[in-house]
Amino acid sequence: MNIILLGPPGAGKGTQASRLVDGRGMVQLSTGDMLRAAVKAESPTGLKAKAVMEAGELVSDEIVSGIIGEALDALEPKTGVIFDGYPRTAAQAESLDAILSSRGRTLDHVIELVVDEDALVDRITGRYTCARCNAGYHDHFQKPEKEGVCDACGSTEFKRRPDDNEETVRTRMAEYRAKTAPILPIYEARALVTKVDGMADIAEVSAAIDATLG
Ligand code: ADP
Ligand code: AMP
Repeated sequence: MNIILLGPPGAGKGTQASRLVDGRGMVQLSTGDMLRAAVKAESPTGLKAKAVMEAGELVSDEIVSGIIGEALDALEPKTGVIFDGYPRTAAQAESLDAILSSRGRTLDHVIELVVDEDALVDRITGRYTCARCNAGYHDHFQKPEKEGVCDACGSTEFKRRPDDNEETVRTRMAEYRAKTAPILPIYEARALVTKVDGMADIAEVSAAIDATLG
């Protein structure tokens, strides 16, 4: 099964993807995570992407479609994939079709996480992750069971993203509205889209996604 999680920054794509990874053994391909790893490694891709990401703008279609193709090639053909944060433009949606079909894969579902924009700044400015295992948390909505200790790996080191500030979030939302939301009709025309209420509790959102995937 190959699915896309679509929604604005802070909609809960990463949170839901990691629950699907745990629950179904699927693999999460997050272009944001892959680009952050490239920035950290100071690879040629990372050096190109760094300033664009810090500004909240979109990295080029060629770069992200290239890294998605490479990531898919590293997987067993039968592994189910969750695309998180990709595609983000009409050109990327077109590339994804070609990338999937050339690898004998098909797109099964597009889950649109529908959220209230006013809530997103709070979600994003309160977001942090485990510095060791990358598990996601939130200052108010998703605290670790024991304060200051990662539930998943026990680490006490956490980090926040440099682009998770209010000003950059506004740019990222504008990019979503202008370039990403317009790809939904492409998938609606193919009857692939299920809308899920992303404002519900994390577990309820997971239950709605599970019901869709069957
Ligand atoms: P995205 O990957 O779409 O940018 P995340 O999954 O990282 O979004 O979620 C953004 C922040 O909001 C995280 O800190 C996460 O813990 C929190 N969050 C995710 N889903 C919900 C939800 N349904 N209700 C409240 N907070 C949520
Ligand atoms: P995310 O982790 O999905 O919030 O992405 C963080 C940043 O990485 C975005 O603001 C963009 O700068 C860049 N990025 C991630 N995925 C893509 C993509 N599919 N297309 C273009 N830029 C991307």
